[in-house]
Amino acid sequence: MKAENAYRSNKRRGSLFVVSAPSGAGKTSLCRMLCNKTGGIKHSVSYTTREPRNGEINDIDYTFIDKKEFLQMVREGEFIEWAEVYGNYYGTSARRIEEAISAGIDIIMDIDTQGAKQLMEKKADATYIFILPPSLEELRNRLVCRNTDSGEVISKRLQRAVKEIRDYNLYKYVIINDSIEYALDDLSAVVRSERCRMEKIDEIWIKETFLKEVG
Ligand code: 5GP
Repeated sequence: MKAENAYRSNKRRGSLFVVSAPSGAGKTSLCRMLCNKTGGIKHSVSYTTREPRNGEINDIDYTFIDKKEFLQMVREGEFIEWAEVYGNYYGTSARRIEEAISAGIDIIMDIDTQGAKQLMEKKADATYIFILPPSLEELRNRLVCRNTDSGEVISKRLQRAVKEIRDYNLYKYVIINDSIEYALDDLSAVVRSERCRMEKIDEIWIKETFLKEVG
């Protein structure tokens, strides 16, 4: 653990960061870059029924399961939120989140707006962050340049993007991903400011460091 985090160590619960964005806004890269450059924060590994893409690793990018297993987990109440996106199911395991948070690890969840809204309804203690592309034209360009989708899929993604953007005002922070460096700075700033909240400081550390001798 970095020295800067010592006073927020294991006696405190980790924080939960929920990040949503329309596809093509750069959310996945941003979350990955944030976790690489910041100690004490991990990406939440969701369960999904979609097929792994090239290079994706089971239990690292996602836990890949079939629909039957997924629906079984839904019935057993294993997800704190779940949603259907483009015909596939995605869900966050309550147990995985609880284990990390209670070990003092911050978790960043990259989930769609349906899932984020479920957490908001449950009043989950989390920081909600929405990532916007600089414009719809730029979003279209990025989807075209990715070269992974047909024209029809791209228009579906754009329609869905507009639907998701309508919910931007439910989130606490909005980050515009015009330049990835600036957006990453903004995201890091949000994480750092949440970590500085008074409730996140280890009370025992305060007592032992400052209050023990004087009383
Ligand atoms: P992709 O298949 O491109 O990795 O993700 C498609 C969408 O599903 C993205 O918007 C992503 O944020 C969302 N997603 C990934 N994991 C989860 C999850 O656990 N729950 C919900 N609600 N959405 C998720």
